[in-house]
Amino acid sequence: MKIGVVALQGAVTEHLTALSELGAEAIPVKEANQLRELDGLVLPGGESTAIRRLMDAAQLREHLQLFSREKPVFGTCAGLILLAKEVIAEEAHIGTMNVVVERNSFGRQIDSFITDVTVQERKIPAVFIRAPHIQSVGNNVEVLATVGDRIVLARDGHLLGCAFHPELTEDRYIFELFLEMVKKSASARLASHENVL
Ligand code: GLN
Repeated sequence: MKIGVVALQGAVTEHLTALSELGAEAIPVKEANQLRELDGLVLPGGESTAIRRLMDAAQLREHLQLFSREKPVFGTCAGLILLAKEVIAEEAHIGTMNVVVERNSFGRQIDSFITDVTVQERKIPAVFIRAPHIQSVGNNVEVLATVGDRIVLARDGHLLGCAFHPELTEDRYIFELFLEMVKKSASARLASHENVL
């Protein structure tokens, strides 16, 4: 499996490491022409305003919109903000994941913190850094984890959005979850291709 990590700003190396540890071929992506060969893509955390500008400068937005309609994308933190269909008080960017997101929503005094979250009955450590949260989800979007009453992990078909930073801990459960989605989506594409032939 070949997974790209958008490498314009933010926590890129940690994602590449996590994905390679699980046996995926992980490559940094800076240009649209690299997307064609990928089975899935990670949008890392960082500063969504900065990443958004760099993406526009690299003319990536439209390509990422097309990619995310077809293949799995995993947005973490700023990446989730870019992927969301609606962002409170801002314009959406890629806008293909059916969630409403609020930026910097955990308040100043706890800008960054680490806590345990439960995902599919498994407890995992979650690092929040000036994190957004998912305020609401559209039809058919699965809520996979919450902190208090705030949604911090959700799945919209082949799109996964996470408010925290799974690449900053040793626990690889969220990456395993994403790679499962990539595998499923690749075999579904293969099957529909074979039907055409
Ligand atoms: N606060 C950042 C933003 O709104 C996200 C922080 C992060 O990715 N760790 O873009």
